[in-house]
Amino acid sequence: MKLIAQLVVFLTIACQLILAQEIDESQLKCSHAKTAKAMFTNYAAPSVTQADYDVTFYDIDLKIDPAPETISGSVGVQGISLVSSLSMVELDLYSGLSIESIKNEQGDILNYVHDSNLLSITLNNPVSNGNNFNIIIKYGGKPPVTGFGSFTFDQYNEEPMISSLSEPYGARDWWPCKDTPNDKADSVDISLEVPTGLIAASNGKLVNTEINGEWTTYHWQERYPIATYLVSVAIYPYTVFYDWYKYSPIDSMRLEYYVFPDNYDKVQNNYSLTKDMIGAMADRFGEYPFIKEKYGHAEFTWGGGMEHQTLTSLGGYSEGLIAHELGHQWWGDMATCASFQHIWLNEGFATYSEALWYEKRDNNVQSLHSRMNSNKYYGSGTIFVEDTSSVGSIFNGGLSYAKASWVLHMLRHIVGDSAFFAGLQEYGDRYRFKSVVTEQFRDVMEEISGMDLDSFFERWIYGEYYPIYNVTYNFSNNSLFVLVEQTQASEIFKMPIDIKATFTDESELIWIVENTIRKELFTLPVPEGKIIQKIEIDPDDWILKKVDSITIDEQIDTTSSTGIPTEFHLYPVYPNPFNAGVTIRFTIENEDDIQLNIFDIKGNSVWQQSAKYSAGNHFVKWDGRNLVGDKVPSGTYIVEVSNGTLVKTEKMLLLK
Ligand SMILES: [Zn+2]
Repeated sequence: MKLIAQLVVFLTIACQLILAQEIDESQLKCSHAKTAKAMFTNYAAPSVTQADYDVTFYDIDLKIDPAPETISGSVGVQGISLVSSLSMVELDLYSGLSIESIKNEQGDILNYVHDSNLLSITLNNPVSNGNNFNIIIKYGGKPPVTGFGSFTFDQYNEEPMISSLSEPYGARDWWPCKDTPNDKADSVDISLEVPTGLIAASNGKLVNTEINGEWTTYHWQERYPIATYLVSVAIYPYTVFYDWYKYSPIDSMRLEYYVFPDNYDKVQNNYSLTKDMIGAMADRFGEYPFIKEKYGHAEFTWGGGMEHQTLTSLGGYSEGLIAHELGHQWWGDMATCASFQHIWLNEGFATYSEALWYEKRDNNVQSLHSRMNSNKYYGSGTIFVEDTSSVGSIFNGGLSYAKASWVLHMLRHIVGDSAFFAGLQEYGDRYRFKSVVTEQFRDVMEEISGMDLDSFFERWIYGEYYPIYNVTYNFSNNSLFVLVEQTQASEIFKMPIDIKATFTDESELIWIVENTIRKELFTLPVPEGKIIQKIEIDPDDWILKKVDSITIDEQIDTTSSTGIPTEFHLYPVYPNPFNAGVTIRFTIENEDDIQLNIFDIKGNSVWQQSAKYSAGNHFVKWDGRNLVGDKVPSGTYIVEVSNGTLVKTEKMLLLK
C-alpha cells in the first residue's frame, strides 16, 4: 500500500506529505469526511481459538446495492481442524452486520454468538485433527468505514464508485473471515452482484458474467493462496482495456485495466510501462507469482495505491506508484508479513522495488542512488512495529517504508549483488504463498551469503537511529591509518564501511573495513609511490548515516590496539562476480602462518600462497591466474584461508 498523501486525523484534518515524490500529480484529498475516522479500526487482538483451524477456502457471494449502501449475501468458510476436537469456529466480523443464518454443509442450523466484532460458531459435531469443516454464513447490512476505507460507497463523476481497502483489519468490516495475514486461504471465489451498467472487478480470473435484468453478477476466482486483507472489490462503470506481458516466446499473461473513462488518456503512458516493470522485477525476484491469472489496475477514489492480489487498486498513476504496488505482488502478496509487526517485509520491499525499477529502466546505478537519497529517514522509532493496534504505527512512512527500504539497500552492499538477488529469489521461493517474519528473511540471507547477519538485523530492525561517523586519518610508510568513531548517542552499528582514497595522481582505491566497535583504528596498505590527497567514508552512499567530519590528525596513535580484530575471519570477496581481479579480505587476531588456497568447483587447486601475516586486516589480490600464470576459465571458485587450525571459505564467481 502506498499513500500519496497521508491524512492526519485527530479531529483536525490536515495534510501531511509522507512521500513527497508522489505529490506532483497526486489527487490530494484532505477533506473527505470519511477520513475523520480513518485511523479507527475494529481491531481486536487475534482470537486464541482461531489458531485451532486452518482456512482452506472462502466462497464470497455478495449483492452490493449502492442506493441504500448495503451488502447482503453469504460467505462459505472451509477449513481444517488443527486440534483433536474442534467444537467452535471463531471468525472476525463487524458486529453491526446482521446474521440471517449460519449452517453447516448438511443444512443444519448452527448456534453462534456475535459480539465485539467476533462471530463464535458452535459446530454440531466436533471436528477431529486434520478433518474438514464447512460453514455457510448468510448476513448483510451496512459496512462501517474504518482504517483507510475498508468498504466504501463513494461517487466519482456522479456515478457510484464502490471499493474496498481492507489492510490491515478491515476485511472483517464486510465479510466474515479469519482476519489475520498468517492464515491464507488456498483459494477464494468472489461473486459480486451489482446494478447492471457497473463493472465489478476483483482478484484472480473472471470466470463468468451473468446479466439478469437490472442486476449483473461478476464471478471471480482466485486460485492462488491469498491473505484476507488482499481480497478486494472495485466497482464502477469502468472503461476496460488490456495489454500483455510476454513471459516466454510463446506465452503471455493479460494485463487488465479498469479506469475512470476521463482518465483513459492520462494513464496510457505510465500504464504502458507496466509490462516492462513486470519483466524487470521478474528478473530480480523470480517470475511474476500469479502468472496463470493476471495483473492489472482498478482505479478507486482513495488517494494512493493498494496491492490487491492480481489487481492493484490505484488512486493515481505515477510511475513510482505503479512500480511500488507491482513490487508488492511478490513482497506482500506472494510472501506476506505474518503479523503487521513485520510490515517492513511488505512496505520496505515495495519501496525498494521502486528504486530497483529506476535502476533497471535507466540501466544506471545512479538512478537507484538518487531514489534512495529521497528515502533517507533519520527519525526515532524502530522498523519493527511494537503497537499493531495503531494503523499509523504500522504504516509509518519514515520507518516501515523509507528506512526499511534502506535496510535492503545496505544489505545489498554488505552481501554483494549476486548474493543479495539470489537471496531474494530463494526467500521468494521458500515462502511462496506463505507468511513470513523478519528472522526467516534474515536466515535465508545468511544462508545464501554465508555471513552472520544477526547484529545487522537486530540493530536496524529492532533498534533506533543511524550511525554518525567521525573520522580522522593520517598516512605514512605506505600505510593509511583511519580512526573511525561512531558518535551517536544510541548503540553502535556493526557495519562494513567503504573507505575511499583519492591519490595525488587522481587514481582511487576503495577498502572495506569491518567496523565493530565504537572507536576503531584501521591500517590500510597503500600502493608504493601513492600519496593520499583525500579520503571519503561510504562515498557511494550505501549506509544510512551521517558523517560528522573527516580530518587529518597527525596524532593518531597508530600502535593503538583498537583495530586488532578479536577473531579469525574471512569476509566475502570483492567484487563478486569478478572479472579482472578479486580482493580476498581476512583478519587475524595474532601473527600467524596463513595458507590461502583457491579451488575450482571440482576441488582442484588452482592457486595458493603461504605467508606469515601480522595481526589485523589483510587484503590479498588474486588476478584470476593459476600458479603458472595462465588465466583460469569462467566459473565458481572457492577461496580457503587457513591458519592451521581454523579454515574459512568463501565462494566467488569469475565471469569473462
Ligand atoms: Zn505499499
